[in-house]
Amino acid sequence: MEAFIKKHQYNYINRCLHELNSTFKNSVDKNVIETNKAYLYEKILSMFESLSDRQKELLDITKIDDPLFIDKYIASLVEYVYGMPEVTNTQLTKLFKKEKKLKLPDKSILDLKKVYLGWIDNSSGKLFIAYNLNGKLLGMACRVTSFTPKSGNICTLCNHIGSESEVAFVSPLCKTSDTGEGAYRSIGFSLCLDSQSCNERITSVEQLERILKDVNNIDK
Ligand SMILES: [Zn+2]
Repeated sequence: MEAFIKKHQYNYINRCLHELNSTFKNSVDKNVIETNKAYLYEKILSMFESLSDRQKELLDITKIDDPLFIDKYIASLVEYVYGMPEVTNTQLTKLFKKEKKLKLPDKSILDLKKVYLGWIDNSSGKLFIAYNLNGKLLGMACRVTSFTPKSGNICTLCNHIGSESEVAFVSPLCKTSDTGEGAYRSIGFSLCLDSQSCNERITSVEQLERILKDVNNIDK
């Protein structure tokens, strides 16, 4: 069987199984456990557009009868997980051609399975994000600000709540259809500064795609 689980879907399955683990711990009622399993299995299936019978069987968490088996089960799924397609330095340099001295990401993070590619350039104080949207590489260069929103530091992508050193308010300069001088628009939101950890938590690409379309002035 080929890899068919996207990284964010895997993160979602992982989260569902943590929930199942709590149900096992907190409930002695078999019916409660069975109902929770069926509910979580439905939620997992709803993340996929189409699945073969074998794939459905692999994702069938209702078969798990022992919480001690959960970690093994999660690990067994890893071989079916795939991340964003490989990106070359040439592609990244082209993507961020407006950056005068672009610091490219560490080679070590390029090899990891991930939802999006994110890295920080400390010298420019920017967080770079690259993502493959339906075969098209999109990017944004976000200036990390010291502004703390009243709502606190919650990552827009993975909903992680962290301190200012973990989740920061960032502001990417957006493309506009107006080419006139001084035409620019800026938006802001909070993001994890550690993109690797964010990639382990993100369970939906909805916000990421919405922001990238907005920043790059792409019609929905
Ligand atoms: Zn995050």
